[in-house]
Amino acid sequence: MRRVTIGPDDLVAAGLINPDRQEEIRRVAAEFAVALTEDMSAVINPADPDDPIAAQFVPTAAELVTTDQERLDPIGDERWSPVVGIVHRYPDRVLLKPSLLCPVYCRFCFRREVVGKKGAVLDDESLAAAFNYIRERPRIWEVIVTGGDPFLLAPRRVADIVRALEEISHLGVIRFHTRVPIVDPRRVTPALVDALAAEKAVYVVIHANHPRELGSQAQAALLRLSRAGIPLLAQTVLLRGVNDDAGVLEALFRRLVTMRVKPYYLHHADLARGTSRFRTGIASGQRLVRSLRGRISGLCQPTYVLDIPGGHGKVPIGPCAVRQGGERGGWLVKDATGTEHDYPADPDAAEE
Ligand SMILES: *Cc1c(COP(=O)(O)O)cnc(C)c1O
Ligand code: SF4
Repeated sequence: MRRVTIGPDDLVAAGLINPDRQEEIRRVAAEFAVALTEDMSAVINPADPDDPIAAQFVPTAAELVTTDQERLDPIGDERWSPVVGIVHRYPDRVLLKPSLLCPVYCRFCFRREVVGKKGAVLDDESLAAAFNYIRERPRIWEVIVTGGDPFLLAPRRVADIVRALEEISHLGVIRFHTRVPIVDPRRVTPALVDALAAEKAVYVVIHANHPRELGSQAQAALLRLSRAGIPLLAQTVLLRGVNDDAGVLEALFRRLVTMRVKPYYLHHADLARGTSRFRTGIASGQRLVRSLRGRISGLCQPTYVLDIPGGHGKVPIGPCAVRQGGERGGWLVKDATGTEHDYPADPDAAEE
């Protein structure tokens, strides 16, 4: 069988770290899950100490340093979890987490306290209870199957989940969040694609952070999904030293769009424990996003969002191009070059 997973004890053999770092890796692996795939290992340049792919997957002792602002539950998932495997924060949609295993463990992961640990797969009883929770609440319109990575489940299990959700009449959309098509693209088999077939709309949202992740195997996997009529979206995490650069983001978003994937969210990195080396400031994130406006197609523009710590939800935090202050109560609107233009006051402004 194809060996795809490189664990903490294989990093030396894979040429990804020097033997003198094995002890450091052991200490990190005692706290957080460690793994990457051969596909990702193959695009790492081990001679580059700042390699953007290695930075995402190869652990370092910096992860053992926690800052005052960092939290165990950075986006408040626990607070909004009514039953095991469900997170219900917004009235119309829930997260369903059938498994907390991933093909890779990202060093900046916002769920790093729970992914890859023992008991990470929901048992049949808990899964049935999660489906019941959704079934009994007609206001739920969308189920986001996430984790962990749901595409790590056997295609038969994925088909069971799709079938169970398909039978719930008040659901309009079934959305999968996965990194598999990028980091382990050969796992997107015809059987997995078939498992996603449904009458309801099935969306797949991938996670990609750097253009080098998007090789020909990933392209082929994404084509198998889009040929099956599945709309594809992408989430990107803004990461210092990986993609906090206009040229890198431009190349990433262009490549995604040519592969029929619409960039959906650019996430400001969450306050997960031991991840401070990845976080940019919000001001520099806004500068980057502003520099992409006008420079690349609207199809290539994701929404820059922050998941407010404490479980208050995601909000757009991109630069705002409009402010009040024009002539006679009007507006000033900034174009892509930073020049401001007048726009008339609102029709109802005089009555206020
Ligand atoms: C991110 C998230 C969603 C999905 O949000 P969208 O803005 O619809 O993509 C839903 N529920 C929870 C708890 C989330 O964290
Ligand atoms: S694939 Fe997603 S859930 Fe898994 S480790 Fe990476 S960021 Fe976390």
